[in-house]
This record gives sequence, structure tokens and C-alpha cells, in this order.
Amino acid sequence: MIHIGCHLSISKGFEHIAQEAFSIKADTFQFFTRNPQGGKAKDLSAADIQRYLQLARDYKFAPIVAHAPYTLNPCSDNPQTREFAEMVFTDDLNRMEKIAGNYYNFHPGSHVGQGVDQAIDMIAGLLNKVLFADMTTTVLLETMSGKGSEVGSTFEELKRIIDKVDLQDKMGVCLDTCHVFAAGYDIVHNLDGVLNEFDRVIGLKRLKAIHLNDSLMPFGSHKDRHAKIGEGMIGKEALLDFAHHPAIKNLPLILETPNDIEGYAAEIEMIRTGEK
Ligand code: FE
Ligand code: FE
Ligand code: ZN
Repeated sequence: MIHIGCHLSISKGFEHIAQEAFSIKADTFQFFTRNPQGGKAKDLSAADIQRYLQLARDYKFAPIVAHAPYTLNPCSDNPQTREFAEMVFTDDLNRMEKIAGNYYNFHPGSHVGQGVDQAIDMIAGLLNKVLFADMTTTVLLETMSGKGSEVGSTFEELKRIIDKVDLQDKMGVCLDTCHVFAAGYDIVHNLDGVLNEFDRVIGLKRLKAIHLNDSLMPFGSHKDRHAKIGEGMIGKEALLDFAHHPAIKNLPLILETPNDIEGYAAEIEMIRTGEK
């Protein structure tokens, strides 16, 4: 059974997002914990959360994915930016406990010239401050395209971060198909090879969620531009093979393709049926 959904807006609350997901035959979804450019999080009403949790049971939702704001950069050279990252991460992880047992995905960060070694220490340093022993959320490092000074465009860098985290059982990885393709992992011609590489370097047991996107930019371009499924350089056939691969097909698949709600419904239907 494929678990698939898309990125949706939480602005009207959790009950609304559950109904919206159900209406497009999604059984998972992703949402920003706050404005993607940062800022204050929306207050969560206890009644809304209760109605959501009931709907998630009724509709048999798979785990869902919260996405941290893009401005969260634990390895900035600016101490205020690092403090903001700690504040947001702490607040988000506390709020996540209200919808226990889901995923919190973040971009590892950009080292802005300080170098990868320093960045990895800073990212793991933040995780060691904010993770707590009885949390039920799993924190996911997202695989990145490697634009600018982004950390996390190789499996090795992600593994080095995880290795420095004390509470490693709280850590996982979210693989973004657009990003790994742009980073130079050939999921079109060598999917088994890429997944074997992931298993060898990080371990497939750490792979918890997928961002299923086509890529407007070519293989190895280190550019991050998402395309609709079948309208990019990865292509429909490779993305269907990816979604239905035995190592992938039980994970929550999240579309972050440039679509309106009807477009998402059509892509969900296409991925579920697997017809090429
Ligand atoms: Fe992301
Ligand atoms: Fe992504
Ligand atoms: Zn992206």
C-alpha cells in the first residue's frame, strides 16, 4: 500500500488540512510549522488538534511530515541566526508532541563559507541542545541539491551529522528525489545503486520519508527547481519506479510539485495506480 500526499497549507488548522488531504485521496501530507520564511507559529487550538487526531485515525493516515522554515540555519556565521534556529526548533518540537509520533523535517543548513566540518559540528550541536529523551517525533535531515554552500547534498555529510548526535534513535532522513538527482545521484539509470549506496553509508533503516518531485534542472546541476511529475528531467517512469520500489513503497511520499489541489489529486492518483 502506497502512502502518498502533498504539501498543504495549515493556515485553516489541522481539521481542515485532514479533510483537504482526504478529499484528494491522500493518506499523509506535509505542512510548514510556520511561515516558510520564518516568523511566529500559528496558535494551535486543542479542539482542532483533537478533531484532527480522530480524523487521522478514521482515515488511516500514515505518519505526516512537518517542515521547518527555510530560514532555519543552524550553521550560519551569524549568532543571532543560530539562536533563531534553536528557538524555532525547540518550540516546534514541543508543539509536535501534540500530534505525537510524526516527523519533523529540516534543511541541515548552509555553511556560508565556514566550511563543511564546522557546519556539521554546529548542526549536531543544535540537535544535541533541542532533542529530548521522551520525545515521540523523529527529526529528519533532508537530502539537499548542494546549491550555494548547502550541507547535506551527500549521504556522507548526513551520516557525519547523525554520528555526532547523542539521541540517534530520534534521527532519520527524508530523501528528496529532485534534490538527490540535482546532487548527482542517478535515480533514473541506477536506482538500486543509489539505494544501496544510501544503505551502505547511512543505513536504509534511517530513511523515513520521501519528497517526490521531478526536477526542472539537469542531473548533477546542484540547482533546486521542482517540476510536476513527468514534466522534468527525472521523468514519470523513473519516479513511478522509485515510488513503487520495495525499499520505498511503505514510506510516506510527499509531493512538493508546483500544483494546485486538482494537480495534486491527479498526481496522487497517477502514483497510486502506477500506470506508466
Ligand atoms: Fe525541504
Ligand atoms: Fe523537499
Ligand atoms: Zn527543493
